[in-house]
Amino acid sequence: MKINLANIKKAQKLLNKSECVAIPTETVYGLAANAYSDTACKKIYKLKKRPKNNPLIVHYLNCQILKKDCSFNNNFIKLYKKFCPGPITFILDLKKNSKISKIVTNKQNTLAVRFPKHPIARSLLKKLNFPLAAPSANLSSKVSAVTPADVKDDFGNNIKYILDGGKSSIGLESTIIDLRNKPKILRLGGLETSIIKKALNKKIIINNNPSKISSPGQFKIHYSPGIPIRLNVKKIRNGEAYLLIKKNKRTKSNYYFLSKNGSLREASKNLYSTLRKIKKDKYKSIAVCKIPNKGLGKTINDRLMRASKF
Ligand code: AMP
Ligand code: MG
Repeated sequence: MKINLANIKKAQKLLNKSECVAIPTETVYGLAANAYSDTACKKIYKLKKRPKNNPLIVHYLNCQILKKDCSFNNNFIKLYKKFCPGPITFILDLKKNSKISKIVTNKQNTLAVRFPKHPIARSLLKKLNFPLAAPSANLSSKVSAVTPADVKDDFGNNIKYILDGGKSSIGLESTIIDLRNKPKILRLGGLETSIIKKALNKKIIINNNPSKISSPGQFKIHYSPGIPIRLNVKKIRNGEAYLLIKKNKRTKSNYYFLSKNGSLREASKNLYSTLRKIKKDKYKSIAVCKIPNKGLGKTINDRLMRASKF
C-alpha cells in the first residue's frame, strides 16, 4: 500500500489537537488518541461508549520510546526481538514518573503496550511526540473494524478522520500476554499461543476464561454482530445465513465463505467483515459450521463463542 503523506499529516494535526483519529493496523483498525492527554483519551471512551473500567492498549513505535513509561524484563525483551512489530500486546509495570494518562490505565499501575506493524501506523507514530492509546475502532462490545467503511458504519460523522490503510491483513485483535510474573495469556489473538510458547521455551498459562476478569477483552459477551449466532452447526434452520470455513460447490445465496480452501489465516482476515456483511444483508441469525480448533482457529472460535452469547 502506498503511503500518502498528506493524509498522515492530517491525522497528525488532529491528534496534536487532542482529537481521535481511526488508524489502520495489521490486526484491526484502532481509534487512536494521545495517550498522555486526559482530554484526548476521554474522547475515545465517549465515542466507543466504552465502560470506564476497561483500560486501553497503548501503541509505540519501538521499545526505546517505551522505556520512558514501562520497566522491561527478560521475557519481554525475548518476545519483542522475535515478534515486534506485530500482533502481540504486553502487560508491563508502569513507571512511577510515566506521563501516561490515568484514563488509559483506569488508575492501575500496569500498562498494555503494542508495536503495530502496519507501515501507515508506523509512519504516523514517527511523526508524533507521544504514544497512541488505541482500542479497536468499533462501538463497545461489537465486532471490530477491519476497513475504513466498517469504522464509518459504527461512528458516522462523529469521528473526525479515518486514515485509510486498506483492509487489515490479520483481521483479529492482538494476543495479550501478561509478563509481570509467569507469562500468562489474557486474550487469544493474531499471534498463536504455540509460537509464543516456543519462543519463550517455557510453559505459559492461558487465562482466557477467568472467573475474575483482569482484561475486559475476556468479557463473555463481546465481538457481537448484533444478531444471534449458533455454533458447530451441520444443519441450518430456515432463514439463517450459513458461515462456512471453506468454499464448497453447493453455493447458495445464504452461504458465506471465510476462505477458498480452508486456510485459517484467510478465514481470520475475513471473519469480521463477513459477520458485518451478513448483518447488512438483513439476516436475522447466523449458523456457523465447525471451525478446526487449532492455531488461529482457536482465536476464531474464541471470538465466535463470545459473539454467540448475545
Ligand atoms: P480493545 O479495546 O479491543 O483494543 O482491547 C484491548 C484489551 O486490552 C481489552 O481487553 C483491555 O481490557 C485489555 N487491557 C488493556 N490494558 C490492560 C491492562 N493494564 N491489564 C490487562 N488488560 C488490559
Ligand atoms: Mg475491542
